[in-house]
Amino acid sequence: MGALLPLKDCDATANKRAGRSLCLALAFPLLFIACPRDEKPDAGRVGIAGKSSASAPPAPIAAAFNGERAMDHVRKQVEFGARVPGSPELAKTREYIVNELKSHGLSVTTNEFVADTPLGQKRMVNITGQIQGQSKDVIILASHYETKYYKDMHFVGANDPGASVGTLIEMGRVLAASNEKPKFTYWLVFFDGEEAFCEGWDDCGKPEAPDNTYGSRHYVEELKKQDQLDRVRALILLDMMGYKNLELGRDTLSTRWLQDIIWKTGREMGHGSIFVDRPEGVGGDDHEPFLRAGIDAVDLIQLNGYPYWHRADDTIDKISSQSMKIVGDVVLASLPRIEERLLSKAR
Ligand SMILES: [Zn+2]
Repeated sequence: MGALLPLKDCDATANKRAGRSLCLALAFPLLFIACPRDEKPDAGRVGIAGKSSASAPPAPIAAAFNGERAMDHVRKQVEFGARVPGSPELAKTREYIVNELKSHGLSVTTNEFVADTPLGQKRMVNITGQIQGQSKDVIILASHYETKYYKDMHFVGANDPGASVGTLIEMGRVLAASNEKPKFTYWLVFFDGEEAFCEGWDDCGKPEAPDNTYGSRHYVEELKKQDQLDRVRALILLDMMGYKNLELGRDTLSTRWLQDIIWKTGREMGHGSIFVDRPEGVGGDDHEPFLRAGIDAVDLIQLNGYPYWHRADDTIDKISSQSMKIVGDVVLASLPRIEERLLSKAR
């Protein structure tokens, strides 16, 4: 195991997840040869607004993703303040998400549970918005929606997770407005408790009781209990993808074919400078419990190149409606291709 330690040396910024990277390095030794670099914002990449998406594959949808709407959702979340598990601010955020999803015609369920954390028992709630498809088989689009707990810092998480929540709500509006029933049923899932209560991702966890991904681990357990796990064919996770200097490397844990479809679609839509091929060492996220349960999953995340990660200045001026629109558009355009691939794949 000691031989795999160099990952920590090359990526000091990913402290939260660095501890987990050891086991990932075992699983993906080749990908870890190249270290993710701490990217500086590149002036050449700022002007994403000007890029054409004229070559975009036609998407069978009636409404277009509106970046300003996504931005409004982020503004609202930030106004609620720090949104830690069990807080009134997170309850308000939840009410907001539920009402938004319902207003766009999604059927919404919430699942409350109690998590044992290093700070004691915490009440957590996962949210699921459903768009019924032709098939009972499910594709999950997901984000966590709580902010990380800090004792002494007012942390509002505009990008983590404001942007991914805003993007997901807006994707729900677009999908629900479609003229035809999608081939698959879609669940838009908002996880509680992704973040560690201790400073680092692995500071307080034990192998059988990690201090992170409380909501997603509970979600997978519930699916198993209700014998629904087999319905879920893929999960697309959004996390920290709203930075105005957006650059998404390939999360090394993600399922390759799923990632390939999204990255190829992104490039075809003219966003090759955003969907780049360098590895993004993340070390674990809400997709991990699904991967462990045998579900193909991909994480769209910019962790190492986001200078405001887990800082008080992860504020709304760091994110852009254009970045959220690009991710929303690319994921939406990828869905028919993902559906096609799943339909052709033997179970
Ligand atoms: Zn975070």
